[in-house]
Amino acid sequence: MALRRPMVAANWKMDGSQQLANELFDKFKQLKDDSVEVVLCPPSIYLDSVQKLHEANREALSDCLVRLGGQNLSHHEFGAYTGEISGKMLKEFGCSYVIIGHSERRRMYGETSDIVADKFAMAQKVGLTPILCVGESLPAREANRTFEVIAGELDAVIKKHGTLAFDNAVIAYEPLWAIGTGKSATPEQAQEVHAYIRRRLSEVSPYIGENIRILYGGSVKASNAADLFAQPDVDGGLVGGASLNASEFTTLCRIA
Ligand code: PEP
Repeated sequence: MALRRPMVAANWKMDGSQQLANELFDKFKQLKDDSVEVVLCPPSIYLDSVQKLHEANREALSDCLVRLGGQNLSHHEFGAYTGEISGKMLKEFGCSYVIIGHSERRRMYGETSDIVADKFAMAQKVGLTPILCVGESLPAREANRTFEVIAGELDAVIKKHGTLAFDNAVIAYEPLWAIGTGKSATPEQAQEVHAYIRRRLSEVSPYIGENIRILYGGSVKASNAADLFAQPDVDGGLVGGASLNASEFTTLCRIA
């Protein structure tokens, strides 16, 4: 019997503010529900203050499960890598999760699947749970290559670190054509890919296949979340734009 607690993760990207953090924590006080795990991934410069805000509201949020996450980490452990942030630093500032291989990092910052696999392992080495983003471009979907692309992105991690590496991981299926476009995948399209990911991981470990959480990301909003999250293999969402509105994001947490 799978024990997949739904998760809704907020990827602020290079947006958000201290004010947004205050508004979110105010709204979370009304959630009173720990059946969903809420993960905030602000830009790293806000991690300290968000952690303190969380601490200050600990009692009021005793019924909620709110965690912190990073948006990225270096695949190096420490050293002369100007501008980078290590996994250990994320841990020190209260993170439990870190987003790995977001398509914006793959596309704009040249992160290859090989580097993504190294980051995945580094996250686990320091005790963070990686949220691995996978997803196809529009041309790949139109050429019926969706499964091939997803398999390649999963296999890059499996080849380097083995399927068991997914024992402590979350996957986010984020079709590139749905990110920030306002055009989400249909619930059927999301379910089809989520089921594929689960099947693929089950081939090597039925336990992992059944228990790994697979989030959908790409233009999730209050108006489409219920149908997406109701799919049997969709365990919640990774949310960009809609996470910048405290009311809407809290609504998504309620829906999950
Ligand atoms: C994202 O960037 O992870 C994302 C899903 O963005 P949006 O919700 O804005 O499409």
